[in-house]
Amino acid sequence: MKRVLSGMRPTGKLHLGNYMGALLNWVRLQGDYECYFFIADWHALTTDYADTSKIAENTLEVALDWLAAGLDPERSVVFVQSSVPEHAELHLLLSMITPLGWLERVPTYKEQQQQIGDVAAGGKDLSTYGFLGYPLLQSADILLYQADFVPVGQDQVAHVELTREVARRFNQFYPPPAGGAPVLPEPQVLLTPSPKLPGTDGRKMSKSYGNTILLTDPEPVVRQKLKTMVTDPARVRRSDPGEPDLCPVGDLHKVFSTPETMERVYAGCRSAGIGCIECKGWLADAVVAQLNPLQERRREYENSPALVREILAQGSCRARARAGETMEQVRDALHLVELPTEERSR
Ligand code: SF4
Repeated sequence: MKRVLSGMRPTGKLHLGNYMGALLNWVRLQGDYECYFFIADWHALTTDYADTSKIAENTLEVALDWLAAGLDPERSVVFVQSSVPEHAELHLLLSMITPLGWLERVPTYKEQQQQIGDVAAGGKDLSTYGFLGYPLLQSADILLYQADFVPVGQDQVAHVELTREVARRFNQFYPPPAGGAPVLPEPQVLLTPSPKLPGTDGRKMSKSYGNTILLTDPEPVVRQKLKTMVTDPARVRRSDPGEPDLCPVGDLHKVFSTPETMERVYAGCRSAGIGCIECKGWLADAVVAQLNPLQERRREYENSPALVREILAQGSCRARARAGETMEQVRDALHLVELPTEERSR
């Protein structure tokens, strides 16, 4: 089977945008690929280094949401980045060969500095070595497992392209012995179909906008959040016809509702035959039905915190074994001194 790798920062409890944009796709990949999924806690430090008090808790929350969503530790290697120190070792070695300009021109570098890096406006100081280097840490994450594919959304394609460039450069400097395969194969992008998923204020669903519906939100909370969600701005009065294609609620219906419900939404909205409250109620029914089985599974894992830790520990152990194989080839390729294992671990 071809190998797939992807990760997520531990930002705390996940929301529907995380689920529909990545997690659900990962669950589906499990049967067809050898899957490695990791919680990128070192990546969280690149922006949140000043307050690390929530990282451990958030890591476990993300693990719970992954397991609840159907990631199966029997079929996938589910692990924590910081438990596999080889990520840091490869990152360091790759940093030796990566020109600064490659990192400075990564689109998210400037974007994020503008969005959250304005210290005068209460933002975070992102003028750090670690923040500049985070796309290279991502490259190390991928190349460490000699992954064939990286499932990403369109906005992450540039990062995989950087990884390919870095791998090419590594393989040029340190070619394999005649006839051998390159040590760091260039990964391919596996584009994740990501439906438009607005949050309750109509902008993209995102934790930083405070407009999310969490996978853990109980039914009354889901209903209340959807009840106050923004709608087609042209539909001011109940008697005004609306247009679901211009309404964030309509966008969510397209993701969660059946074709039959969709037909009722189009007909009822365009003729002003239904009110927005009724329409949002149908959406809430669909969302709650989607979340129920996840929440049930989550409760089982919540009742066994030791089991969750054990799953992460075992996954990290398997990941480390695989990462170790790559690092042996990498050290060989760089002609670093080889010592007996006991010597190295002293
Ligand atoms: S009826 Fe539904 S789709 Fe139409 S404007 Fe209201 S919430 Fe949006």
